[in-house]
Amino acid sequence: MIRVFWYLIKLAAIVFVAIWLAQTPGEVSLEWLGYRIDTSVGVILLTAFVFGVLAALAYRFWGLLLRSPRSLFDMFDRNRRRRGYKALTKGMVAVAAGDATEAQRLAHKADALLQEPPLTLLLQAQAAQLQGDENAARRYFEAMLEDKETRFLGLRGLMTQSLKAGDYGTALTYARQARQLRPKTPWLLEILFDLSERAGDFPAAERAVKDWARTNALPAPEAARKRAVLLTEQGRRADAEGRREEALRHVRSAHKLAPDFLPANLLMARLLDETQRRREALRFMEKTWAVQPHPELVRLYRKARPGETAIDRVRSLGRLVEGWRSHEEARLALAEAALEAQLWGEARRYLTMLLEAREGRPPSERACWLMARLEENEHGDAKKVRDWLMRAGEAAPDPVWVCETCGTMTESWSARCGACDSFNSQKWTEPQRVGAAQPLALDETPASSLPAPQQAETPSAKPAPPGVPPSPDEAKPPARAVGA
Ligand SMILES: [Zn+2]
Repeated sequence: MIRVFWYLIKLAAIVFVAIWLAQTPGEVSLEWLGYRIDTSVGVILLTAFVFGVLAALAYRFWGLLLRSPRSLFDMFDRNRRRRGYKALTKGMVAVAAGDATEAQRLAHKADALLQEPPLTLLLQAQAAQLQGDENAARRYFEAMLEDKETRFLGLRGLMTQSLKAGDYGTALTYARQARQLRPKTPWLLEILFDLSERAGDFPAAERAVKDWARTNALPAPEAARKRAVLLTEQGRRADAEGRREEALRHVRSAHKLAPDFLPANLLMARLLDETQRRREALRFMEKTWAVQPHPELVRLYRKARPGETAIDRVRSLGRLVEGWRSHEEARLALAEAALEAQLWGEARRYLTMLLEAREGRPPSERACWLMARLEENEHGDAKKVRDWLMRAGEAAPDPVWVCETCGTMTESWSARCGACDSFNSQKWTEPQRVGAAQPLALDETPASSLPAPQQAETPSAKPAPPGVPPSPDEAKPPARAVGA
């Protein structure tokens, strides 16, 4: 539009000048080299204009003649590079599509056309990997280390190769080098955290988590939990090596980062007691119980108050479980303490509440053992003892540390599952019993009608157990060391 406008303006100007010249006639007389020219001003001006245009055209043509070899070469070069980049792009597409042969062919083509190794090395390495030639791929990755531009990608390739081969030590070396080039890459920080933790370098793992959280790729609560796990593991190691004060420092930090992290809390409770901070230990256990009742707290609480009479123990355990009295673990702890103090009525009361609270689920194993002990000690009723021991055999298993990834059960917690290698996957929970789909539907005595104190003399409807019944002497719960 604007161009049309300008064209019209120019045309108007020329027409105006032509009209003006025609309307203002003048004569020009020229004598030169014996010639004489008589003409009008208009013709002279037109002639001068035509000469000017011809001179400009001649000048441009001359310049073109001088430069032509170079511009021709440039044209060919541009064409070659264009084909090179096209091959590179198509090669990348072939890699993404998993076409190894095509990727390799295009990689060679791109390399020949572009003659810029940094650009084509990655494609060549990926093509080699697609063909399963890891050695060739490694050579390409190593060649990439030479160039500043491709060094990071080369390190990434070598690190990935080491990870795939399970060589975590070498992978960690490459990851550390890569971090120096790009310290804020989230995926790299994640790998650094993982590999440092595997290598037992917990401070380095914690630094990686902190940097990772700073990239905003890791939410703050998750970062805090990861650091708490690392600190707890450090505490466990220091504790195992007899450095209790140091261990306590680590788990205190872990507790601050994630107050609900049970493994840290249990270890902290024990270490507080073992480093002669008894009052703080007892207070901490009571506080922890209110949110996370755990049998280990009962064991530690009893250990922290040695030399108590059985009656005193019933009272002191009452203080421990005060924050959550209705929890199953609280009733178990109180029932056992009452049994030891020979307070049969109280023991039976707690156990009855315990069994009724199961609401149709089979009783827990420890509850069955305690019932058997109660029947033995209070009434010496061998048949009931036998019944309870039978039930213990098919009772719901007591809580343990269960890996949420692979389901493996362990008595003690650790940061990494020994079976499937998952990080922080263990939870304290009742394991799923295999083949216990409908135990109550087949049982003639549902949990809700289990012998309550007033029904103690009612004969059990259960048939006599087959095989040799265990003697009352065996009716004692096995010693358990859970969560230590
Ligand atoms: Zn596992």
